[in-house]
Amino acid sequence: MGTMNPLFKPSPLPYQLPDYANLTVSQFREASLTGMEEQRAAIEAIIKDAAPATAENTLTALELSGATLTRAQNAFWVVLAADATEERRAVEEELAPLLAAHYDAIWLDDRLYARLVQLRDRADAGEETLDEEDRFNLDDLIQQFERSGIHLADGPKQRLRELNSELAALQVDFERVLLDGRNSAAVHIRDEAELDGLNAAAKANAKSAAEDRGLDGWLIELTNTTNQPILADLNHRETRRRVLTASLGRGLGGGHDIRQIVLDIVHRRAERAKLLGHPHHASWVAADGCARTTEAVSDLLGRVAPGAVELAGHEAEQLQQLLSADDPTARLEAWDWEFYAAKLAAKNAVDPVELRPYLEFDRVLTEGVFAAATGLYGITFHRREDLVGYTPDARVYEVRQEDGGPLGLFIVDPFTRSTKRGGAWMTSIIDQGRLTASLPVVTNTCNFTPPAEDAPALLTWDNVITLFHEFGHALHGLLSNVKYPSRAGTSVPRDFVEFPSQVNEMWAWDEALIRRYARHHETGEPLSEDLITKLRASRSEGAGFGTLEVVSAMLLDQAWHTADETELPNDVAEVEAFERAALERAGVASDLVPPRYRTCYFSHIFGSQYSAAYYGYLWAEVLDADAVAWFEEQGGLQRAAGDTFRRELLGRGGSIEPMTSWANFRQADPDVTHLLRRKGLGQ
Ligand SMILES: [Zn+2]
Repeated sequence: MGTMNPLFKPSPLPYQLPDYANLTVSQFREASLTGMEEQRAAIEAIIKDAAPATAENTLTALELSGATLTRAQNAFWVVLAADATEERRAVEEELAPLLAAHYDAIWLDDRLYARLVQLRDRADAGEETLDEEDRFNLDDLIQQFERSGIHLADGPKQRLRELNSELAALQVDFERVLLDGRNSAAVHIRDEAELDGLNAAAKANAKSAAEDRGLDGWLIELTNTTNQPILADLNHRETRRRVLTASLGRGLGGGHDIRQIVLDIVHRRAERAKLLGHPHHASWVAADGCARTTEAVSDLLGRVAPGAVELAGHEAEQLQQLLSADDPTARLEAWDWEFYAAKLAAKNAVDPVELRPYLEFDRVLTEGVFAAATGLYGITFHRREDLVGYTPDARVYEVRQEDGGPLGLFIVDPFTRSTKRGGAWMTSIIDQGRLTASLPVVTNTCNFTPPAEDAPALLTWDNVITLFHEFGHALHGLLSNVKYPSRAGTSVPRDFVEFPSQVNEMWAWDEALIRRYARHHETGEPLSEDLITKLRASRSEGAGFGTLEVVSAMLLDQAWHTADETELPNDVAEVEAFERAALERAGVASDLVPPRYRTCYFSHIFGSQYSAAYYGYLWAEVLDADAVAWFEEQGGLQRAAGDTFRRELLGRGGSIEPMTSWANFRQADPDVTHLLRRKGLGQ
């Protein structure tokens, strides 16, 4: 049509912000397809270059080879996630298999691997000089090729491809059977008295859930986790028992038996690990993270588990007392836990209705989230009404350095919309990189309740924590200072990436800051001292139960993935016994506190990407609690402390071994005692 697709070149708008107001879905599609072609051609040129491998003709060229594809994909993905129209979804579906094949072809290309190895050999022989970031990038790329099985002979390589594609299909099967099983495990109630305790809205939900399936009465649908939020409200003990029993029994036999899929997955993973030179799957996964070895993972879990068991025991005694007041002869059961824990919490907790008028979105963002970042890093935020974000509802802020110089753009799309995915997340539209002279453009997308007419948007306390958390990821992107854009910001291992965002949550709890951002939207009054104290005290509530159920699930994940093929069960009848034995061995088997996910509905490890890596949340939390302690030692929200954290951690992104940047920051190994103290666990 004469005009060139604007995604073929960096955008001329400030900070290379894509011209969202004028981009069409077919331009995203075309730029992705052309971008793949361009990258294939560029990689062929790198491989066929007759000159010896240099940083310039190999590392730089490889980094730049995907420029158009990355530009198109980064620009498109965020729109798709925040506003998934049918047209966009169709393009995503069309592109997904093409992209998977495109990247597979790169990572299985022996010639490209050989070129990188040649560069390493030349650097080792002193024929080519690499700086620290070049060297880390090179070594890490070579390692990624090796992790993907590049060095295997043809036969095993063929088997590896088979295993990969079978595993991909099995994971999809797992998710499908899991979802069907969850639906069919919903609890059908015919007598309204059995729903005593539910409010009108919850009952209406249960009623319409039943109607949707052509049933009379009510239907209690299940969530993913073992414990069900509805248990907190159900006065009827037998209903509680039925709900938790249905939850625990998912996947174990019946019409939605998922056990064979579990066995098929774990056996294939074990076989693949052997092919790749690892004793088991968990070893292969840990090697790619900060933990490095499964010994480090089990050390950490072993440090946390006993205290969690003990604290959960104390919590159980308190709950038993509440139960005994209702029924002197009853013994506490797993299905009573949520119910009495909620009663106990209500005694101490802040009433959410009382809190809400103080949590106005705009004020929390500017006087809380932004103010903390200004206090720590000196950066400032300036609304750019002239720039259009990835949805018309998004707001664009220019972020400036302390000296007023440009730092990047931050775009926030706060409110829920029917075309938006659930949850909250950060993405990067433009990655920072000195090589490309690009400054970061990062986003936070959330699902907060939109404002009613003539009223400001008011948040819950959970929303406030989410906002600080996601902005912690955004800071990782914004404060990035690396050479290669592919190493910027959050391009770090899974067991590290949640650490900066979790640390940033600490400022939500900062007393001085709470007084500043939590003000009544009508009167401007700050929260009362009493409410602030109660709020801060609520932080460690229920830590025994919460830690134990999560650590049990982490141990279960490790057990399935540290067993070799001879140790894994072959018969579906042995799945439950394997689970029980693993929990007993680790000293966490408990009828009162089952794992947060049992084997047969553990979607993180059998349906998605967290196999043998569920521990990563805890690993990141150890770093988080230690860094929080460090900030407290430095006097809290202080510029000097912010500068150190920015220079050694946030700024380094994935351009360095993460635990090396930790050591440069902390001058010591991570200390788990800070986490234990935070959770009130014995040391
Ligand atoms: Zn996060």
